[in-house]
Amino acid sequence: MKKKYERPVILKVQTGMMNKFGSSPYYTRKVRKDIDGVSINELTEKFGSPLFVFSETELRQRYRNLYNAFSTRYPNVTFGWSYKTNYLPAICSVLHQEGAIAEVVSEMEYDKARTLGIPGEDIIYNGPHKSLSALEKAVEAGSMVNIDHFDELFDMEKVSDKLGKQIKVGMRLNMDTGIHPQWSRFGLNLESGQALDVVKRMASTGKLILNGLHCHIGTYILEPNAYAIEIEKMIKFTYEVEEKFGYKIEYLDIGGGFPSKSKLKGTYQSPELLIPSIDEYAEKITTALYHNLKPGDFPKLYLETGRGIIDEAGYLITSIVSSKRLPDSRKAYIADGGINLLYTAFWYKYNIEIDRDVQGTNEPSIVYGPMCMNIDVIEEGTLLPPLEKGTKLILSPVGAYNVTQWMQFIEYRPNVVLISEDRQIDLIREAEDLSDISKREILPERLKLK
Ligand SMILES: *Cc1c(COP(=O)(O)O)cnc(C)c1O
Repeated sequence: MKKKYERPVILKVQTGMMNKFGSSPYYTRKVRKDIDGVSINELTEKFGSPLFVFSETELRQRYRNLYNAFSTRYPNVTFGWSYKTNYLPAICSVLHQEGAIAEVVSEMEYDKARTLGIPGEDIIYNGPHKSLSALEKAVEAGSMVNIDHFDELFDMEKVSDKLGKQIKVGMRLNMDTGIHPQWSRFGLNLESGQALDVVKRMASTGKLILNGLHCHIGTYILEPNAYAIEIEKMIKFTYEVEEKFGYKIEYLDIGGGFPSKSKLKGTYQSPELLIPSIDEYAEKITTALYHNLKPGDFPKLYLETGRGIIDEAGYLITSIVSSKRLPDSRKAYIADGGINLLYTAFWYKYNIEIDRDVQGTNEPSIVYGPMCMNIDVIEEGTLLPPLEKGTKLILSPVGAYNVTQWMQFIEYRPNVVLISEDRQIDLIREAEDLSDISKREILPERLKLK
């Protein structure tokens, strides 16, 4: 085959020989021709580009690894699937099949879980905004509601009055676990005594019965010991309220926050080296439980892992639509999917793989998305060989938060597919068209073009 002419460029000399760091990055590239045995070509021929692809095999495997790491160490563990991380019904259903209950942070998510057939008592309802009517609905269905602030406490008292009964509630705590910035905007602060004030109020009105504690210290937490501190403080508080007020804390919900092997921008080491294993987290967490709980005490342990389960099960296939040379001599590519689909591009640097073997030397390249907007940059500097229009880039891991935070801005949102364990490809969200955009828009009669 005749090689395609590529205009020469002048690059800083890099040693191209194999050395102690391995072979030169200028000649190595990551080529991916399939996902779970299904070729990239087949996927885009059938479902177009850009395309989100989820691996059911990876998803189930990650859930099982995580569940086993905890259930083999502690007798009473349940995972609540964090809906906001990815609430496509197919994804939620895979995790519910695996045994996860639902963890929701809004009424929309709550309704979504109920629509999927999740019983009220299998829903953990968190978040800073729960309307009075949503609280009432959740209480009547027997869901676990974790109170976030004083106004919610007062609203729950109103629900108790209305239903004419005492209500069991949990509360979200925030605390210093050595993770900074501290997420103090959610829940009630432990160290300042605010959390205790809530319990005192519960005890004095007698309308609510505290039966659970919740805390979520942040996301992408690289320090397993932060969870040990969280647990120690939660258990100390548990015994304090049990002794002082006679409550029985039935569950400790330690939230989510385990990292995925996504590379946070600005970190130097590769995620493989940086990220502790799930066993390290499980060991720290369960050791802290055994250290601090009284013998024979096994409150239910809830975990709300989102990112750590789904991120690596998701890929975005995007196609190069054009390339150009910037005035500063950098190579630039324009892809058909950008930050409209990958909101997390602001914080994370993805793995970029290409769908074919390509001739030529790698050079530092920038990858833009399709938006007519300056900030639409997927990758500010990565080594890529000369790529032709139509070449597909496979970006990963992108399974967490993108398919919920993506925006309908300028372009339609694309198809999302799930590859089953026996390589069946199921469409799990259809690409949008103009009718989706227009559906809720109203053009007043007087403004219609005659
Ligand atoms: C977002 C969220 C989670 C999931 O967090 P990850 O970092 O994705 O594991 C869990 N619990 C609560 C309350 C959340 O807001």
